[in-house]
Amino acid sequence: MIPIHRLPLPAEVTDRMTTLSGHIRSEDPSHQVQIARDLWRSKTTRSQVATPIRTVLQRMAPGAERCMYCGDSFGTDIDHYEPIAQAPLRTFDWPNHLLACSHCNSHHKRDQFPLDEQGIPLLIDPTVEDPFDHLMLSLSVGEYRALSEKGRRTIEVCGLNRFALARARQNVFQVVVLCLRTWSAAVRGENLYDPAQVLHMIREQPCADVCQAMLRQVEQPGAAVVFSEVPDIVGLLRDRRVREVLLLTL
Ligand SMILES: [Zn+2]
Repeated sequence: MIPIHRLPLPAEVTDRMTTLSGHIRSEDPSHQVQIARDLWRSKTTRSQVATPIRTVLQRMAPGAERCMYCGDSFGTDIDHYEPIAQAPLRTFDWPNHLLACSHCNSHHKRDQFPLDEQGIPLLIDPTVEDPFDHLMLSLSVGEYRALSEKGRRTIEVCGLNRFALARARQNVFQVVVLCLRTWSAAVRGENLYDPAQVLHMIREQPCADVCQAMLRQVEQPGAAVVFSEVPDIVGLLRDRRVREVLLLTL
């Protein structure tokens, strides 16, 4: 997971969503979940609300429209961060929408939405908080370690340590190393690549969390150990020109 900057929706879409939320609110609370689901699935909603929402979410999503939870698979579904089953009144609430792949949305997260004793969500919303406050990515094995209870529940709910993801992250680590070496040589005029294009290639990689974890961990104590097998990368990850283009913050 990486921090994601939420973009505004077109005003006419927001207006339609306000009207739809009004319909749900006017219903008896015992019927609101069913009404919300019916409205969300209706043909008119799909064309006038879901399609424009998906377009904006795709622009926000990392690289080539990747899932905002796992960062690996293509984001196909509009996910309700707070599920309709638990919060029907947030069905048409723009801050409640994220782009997810079917693995994360339908196989793992589904209607899960863990809360603590105070009712605070124990699921990271990458558009309002930096996931790296709660998660540490082990670059050697490609798996997350939790730094908080919210991190632990997010790993569990989204299946963030599933085998295919860990393998993909290990592979992307090697790609980022290779690209950074290519960038460094390009800057020195030792190859014919455009340095800006090489950094763009890194930005477009799936599993963007790998590059973001590398950029963070290189600034932390223990960086020499983390990058002991690729020590030449340390200086490149700390290079201002690289960080200005690649480091994502909220
Ligand atoms: Zn996913």
